[in-house]
Order: sequence, then C-alpha cells, then structure tokens
Amino acid sequence: MVSYLDHAATTPMRPQCTEAMLPFLGSRWGNPSGGHALARAARRAVDEARDVVATCLGADAGEVVFTGGGTEADNLAVTGVVARNGGIAVCSAVEHHAVLRSVEALSGRVAGVHGDGRVDLAALDAALDGQVSVVSLMLANNEVGTIQPLAEAAALVAERAPAAVVHTDAVQAVSWLDVAVLAAPAHLVAVSAHKFGGPQGVGALVVRGGVGVEPLLRGGGQERDRRSGTHNVAGIAGMAAALAATVADREAVVERVRARRDRLADGLLAAIPGCTESGTRATKVAGSCSLLIEGIESEALLVLLDREGICATAASSCASGAAEPSHVLAAMGVPRALAYGSLRLSLGWTTTDAEVDHALEVIPAAVDELRERSAAPILR
Ligand code: PLP
Repeated sequence: MVSYLDHAATTPMRPQCTEAMLPFLGSRWGNPSGGHALARAARRAVDEARDVVATCLGADAGEVVFTGGGTEADNLAVTGVVARNGGIAVCSAVEHHAVLRSVEALSGRVAGVHGDGRVDLAALDAALDGQVSVVSLMLANNEVGTIQPLAEAAALVAERAPAAVVHTDAVQAVSWLDVAVLAAPAHLVAVSAHKFGGPQGVGALVVRGGVGVEPLLRGGGQERDRRSGTHNVAGIAGMAAALAATVADREAVVERVRARRDRLADGLLAAIPGCTESGTRATKVAGSCSLLIEGIESEALLVLLDREGICATAASSCASGAAEPSHVLAAMGVPRALAYGSLRLSLGWTTTDAEVDHALEVIPAAVDELRERSAAPILR
C-alpha cells in the first residue's frame, strides 16, 4: 500500500482539473495572443479562467497575473516592488525560500518569530520604517502549517510604513483557508496550482489596483506587461478548475482532514516516546502534522518509510536531503539536534482513514528500528 502524506509538497490533480486541461493538450492548441479563431478560443479560455481565479481569491479579473508557479509569483511580488519603487524589503524568518532568498538578495530585513512559528509583531515593528517598500508575510507555513496573523501585521505596516505594500504568500493556504477573506489586507497575493489539486508549473499573483510591480520577464507584453511569455493555457485552465473545486468543497475537506490529522498526530505522539509536535495545533492548517522525534535522523527515517510505502518528507521538501536543518525550525528556536529529527506529514483532499492507519502502524515501528540500530554495538 502507498500512503501519500506529502500534500504540502504537491497534491494529486483534481479530476475537474484534468478534464479542463485535456482540450488544450489536444485539439485546442492556439496561442491566446493571436488573432485567428484557434487563438481566440484559447484567449477565451484564459479569460474565463482569470474570472474564476479572481472570484475565488477575492480580486478583480484585471488584478490576476498568471505566472509559472508560486516561486515566480513570490519573486515578482518582492523583487518587482523594490525594482519599481526602491526601498527596503522585509519578511518573516519562516518564509519559503522564494520570498526569503528574494529579500536577502535585496539586502532586506528579516523579522523573527515566536516559538509557535507566528511572527513576532514587536520584531516586525522594529524592522519597519519609512524606507520600507514591501513587507512579505505568508498566510500559512509550508513546513509547520502555522497560520500567520496577517491582518495584525498589515495594520502595523499601515501605521509604521504607510507607503509600503504588503505581500502574502498564500501558496499553502488555499486548500485550507478562505484566501479571499484572509488575504484581503494584502496588496499582493501569491498562489500555486499544484498545492490545491492543479498542475505543477502554473500560479498567479494578485496585484491589487494601483500597485506597481516591475516585471521579471520582459517580452511580448502579456498579462498587461506584468509577465511576458506565451500563456500556459492548459495549466491556467486546470488551475482555475482546481481552484473552483477546492473552494466549493473546502469546508467539508477541512473538517474531514482535520479529524484524520488529529487522529494521526495524537496516535503518533502517544506511540513514540520523545516525540513532540512543532507549532501549536490551534494555529495550524488542518492538513499539517509536523513532528520532532528525539534520537533519530529524519533522512534515515524517510528511507524506512519509503520502503513501507509512506510518502513523507523532513521539515520541507526543498530542505529534504539538505545537510542543514530547516530554517523554519531554527527560527522557532528548535535545537539543531532535534531539528534533524523532524518529520512532516501533510494530509490533503485524497487522504483516507486507511492511509492514517498505515502511517500509525509503520512510523512508530520505524522509529523503534532506528533507535535500536543506533543503540546496537558495532560488530567488527
Ligand atoms: N511558497 C510556499 C509557501 C510553498 O510551499 C511553495 C512550494 O513549496 C512555494 C512558495 C513555491 O511554489 P512553486 O512550487 O509553485 O514554485
């Protein structure tokens, strides 16, 4: 049996998404920038998808800029504002590297977080002044699942750096939270299709009216000159269908997944001595089960889990395999030795009770095996 517990890395495509994409991988191959019938049909599909994405994200159609994924949307937000307006970029210490590395490359400022992963508003306050042009705070974290106090942060920015633009990376939020409402305080909102049942390699940045971003990609002037390049028509159509499906059944999925996540987390915490949860469950998205297991290395654990058909990662899929433990856990004050034993299980719309049962059976046994191995004398 294979149990996919890695929805924060990527999600299986929704059937509505596959269905929406197929025509554009077949007979409807037109380039939406052209003028003939085939091109116009593609253009119509992009326009319709834009309307759907805008409605689901609480934006106007003209505010949606299609991108090649979440990383590009985050880069366009942070780098695009500073390139247009100058000034200083600020973000929290637990941002995805798409934001963090962009802010670092611009010699920006990074505000620390509390032990639960939520941004320290006093540290954010200290990072803000009249020189700041963009502040980036994610809606939900990809490693621990922490939901950030975006509205409070945005109010602080409005007071301390009134000219600054607020960006939120909502990539991990869409499946769990009403982004149309919760991201409303932000001027810029990044999403990525493959995190909510859409295809990989397509995303969007909402750029609210009146906010200027310098394009990262120059060329044919698509997306009102904010993102040049021929549209990924199939991807865009698929993203819109996946987003509509996600929004339509989000409440039911959240309820179902939260119950399974709680059963999984409580079961593992009870079965594995020296196991704690990172973050605070009450302020995490419903699909996130992020653990710290003493006395093991997550890379060794992941090998055993993979052998038993459990798909999981260490703190994040990007950090997985890297020698350095997660910057998110470090920012939360998790000791380095413990951070090496992190395990991220992320549930999603396809997760079943049988997958949870499988994980509850396999993971404690795998931890026992690793602990026994490291306690065993080395035979020469
Ligand atoms: N932001 C967050 C919070 C993410 O989790 C990810 C992907 O892991 C990204 C941005 C990057 O998105 P993409 O994979 O579409 O480039």
